[in-house]
Amino acid sequence: MKILLRFPLIACLLVLVSFRASETEKPSIRKDNRLLATAWYAMSAEKQACYLQTYRLAGQQLETMKKQKPKPGKSWAIVTDLDETLLDNSAWSVKVLLEGKDYPDFWNDWEKAGKAPAFPGALDFYKTVSQLKIPVYYISNRNAKNLDATISNLKNLGLPNADSSHILLKNKTSNKIERRDQVLKNHEILMLLGDNLADFDGVWEEAKSENRSKSVADNATKWGNRFIIFPNPMYGGWRDALFSYKRGMTEAQQDSVWTLHLGEFLKAAEF
Ligand SMILES: [Mg+2]
Repeated sequence: MKILLRFPLIACLLVLVSFRASETEKPSIRKDNRLLATAWYAMSAEKQACYLQTYRLAGQQLETMKKQKPKPGKSWAIVTDLDETLLDNSAWSVKVLLEGKDYPDFWNDWEKAGKAPAFPGALDFYKTVSQLKIPVYYISNRNAKNLDATISNLKNLGLPNADSSHILLKNKTSNKIERRDQVLKNHEILMLLGDNLADFDGVWEEAKSENRSKSVADNATKWGNRFIIFPNPMYGGWRDALFSYKRGMTEAQQDSVWTLHLGEFLKAAEF
């Protein structure tokens, strides 16, 4: 020790070297490709405004649409997705990011905790829905084993129809067509809400990227009308389609896929 006190420059260098070493042990969070999307989603006031705006406009739209009559023998229903449409899972997204983990790490615990908050504007929208006496069906790919926790999550938020006949979770398949057909037996669907195109129609189940865009254009008049969509830059069909719905690619393979698609985009933009 005495020698270090006599040579302060050496002491400073040693501190610097050990600091640099500990810095290199943990990879920089800035290099994690989820950072911007997750931080925007968890913390931006712009996201808050997006949800307030969309739920308010959906409520107005509902007031207009309810004047239509459903087909004879049917009554109206509303179908909504849960995650990133009604329930905000930002706390889980931030946890996996900070701990360097990924789905499905901690997801089951998060579902079982049943404490996801509702997005801004959602509760007012569902107040309008309740006043109009339109039942809501929650079609979600949360695990059916955690149904009780999801029911209590929705009940605690004061949402309508928070019961096992209206909450249709994933049993075997993430494909939502069958569960929508179940609702269609007695109802006509007045409005669908989601953050993923497959929340709206089977045409988007595992569809190729180019077909996803074409079908969005084909359904242009439904957006903001019968189809209400929310932003999700973190995950979903938009990303899975770019990867041809394949999982478990190496980092190098993922780099090639991103570079290929971004290169094609730039080529088409002629810039
Ligand atoms: Mg969702």
